[in-house]
Amino acid sequence: MTQRRSPLSWNQVSSYHVQNFGCRASQADGAEIEALLAERGLSRAGSASDAEFVILNTCTVTATADEEVRQIVRRVHNQNPAAKIIVTGCYAQRAPEELARMAGVATVVGNSHKSQIADLLPQAGAPFHGQVYAGDIFAEREFRTAAVVAAGDRSRPNLKVQDGCNNRCSFCIIPFVRGRSRSAPADGVVEHARQLARDYDEIVLTGINLGRWGRDNGAGRLSDLVRRLLRETDVKLIRLSSVEPMDWSDELLRLAAESPRVARHVHAPLQSGSDAVLRRMHRRYRPGHYEDRILKAREWMPDAAIGADVMAGFPGETEAEFEETRAFLDRLPFTYLHIFPYSERPGTPAAARGDQVPVEVRRRRGRVLKELAAAKNLAFRRAMLGRTLAAVVLEDGRSAVTTNYLKLELASDRPPRRRIEARIGDVINTGLAEASVLPVLP
Ligand code: SF4
Repeated sequence: MTQRRSPLSWNQVSSYHVQNFGCRASQADGAEIEALLAERGLSRAGSASDAEFVILNTCTVTATADEEVRQIVRRVHNQNPAAKIIVTGCYAQRAPEELARMAGVATVVGNSHKSQIADLLPQAGAPFHGQVYAGDIFAEREFRTAAVVAAGDRSRPNLKVQDGCNNRCSFCIIPFVRGRSRSAPADGVVEHARQLARDYDEIVLTGINLGRWGRDNGAGRLSDLVRRLLRETDVKLIRLSSVEPMDWSDELLRLAAESPRVARHVHAPLQSGSDAVLRRMHRRYRPGHYEDRILKAREWMPDAAIGADVMAGFPGETEAEFEETRAFLDRLPFTYLHIFPYSERPGTPAAARGDQVPVEVRRRRGRVLKELAAAKNLAFRRAMLGRTLAAVVLEDGRSAVTTNYLKLELASDRPPRRRIEARIGDVINTGLAEASVLPVLP
């Protein structure tokens, strides 16, 4: 149900707290929401307990993600009963009424209305509860973003350049809550990146299906956008958050391999290494296509981070199919893996299948893959010993993230957000440690 009303005014000294859930694209949305509220004169509260408006920018990728949101709604309402809770994001788009019924929820703003959120905050003392603003997300044809710079991570901001997805992976609810693929106009991206480059050396380009940038509006390909950013901005490091395997074109890989200003980092969601499982997932590539892209990435960038998302225990996954995935992961040069036991998302074809894998089997398979991932990551870190890597310093000034996506403890404090070169001296539990520089004696 969609209800509309005129925007109401609110107390200009009101304070807000935004809590984000989910992927990097969602984090970028959260930063935009904060910027929109700050632009209207609201101030940021120290925590949800002190805020008048608590904005929960949600994810709905799994049933667990939904439950986490409901728990936070209950906790915020208990700790701060006077707070007006505004729930937005993907869960708000998927099931607005379910959220609107919860105690403490003043307003639910679906993705369809998220860019208007500053106008939809409830007025102080407003008598209503559970107001819903959620419309047909498939009607969206424009990429909507606030006319402000998105600053996500405090040291390495996300810049969202694409939203929505035209694929229909059988396990995924995202196309139904994000709508069709829509790209940010290149001129706007360049302008935002220029603004960000004044304060940050690294920018992370994000999107729901980032590799599809430019296809809907005829702007070109993602590689064209990256080339423009290299040419027309001073950004010192551009990282691509996640690109579907078949969108890692030779051109895009070549840019990463040839430009020291593009992070040596290839993240390509895999989900399964079994042909039959990929077909049931309605994924558009076969294991051979995927392997070709990964081997090319490794051939052109021997020191690059190569990562994937993998699902364990998709409906119908047999022991033999799982073993195909394990062996596939084992033989390819991954440096890290994000492993998720399959989790039913109601409303998707996969959730309706009658051949669900028992939860304990999903978990066991997940554990096997996580052990494999840890061993691969350790081998990669060891291979970096003695090397000098570009890295961007995090907010604490004592740690950094390398171009090839390893956490690095620094030997001495450095200015946050800046790009540095560091020699790797040790492998530690959390990642790598910089070699200490011995003082030069007179
Ligand atoms: S590519 Fe598949 S998994 Fe990714 S957002 Fe689109 S439908 Fe979901």
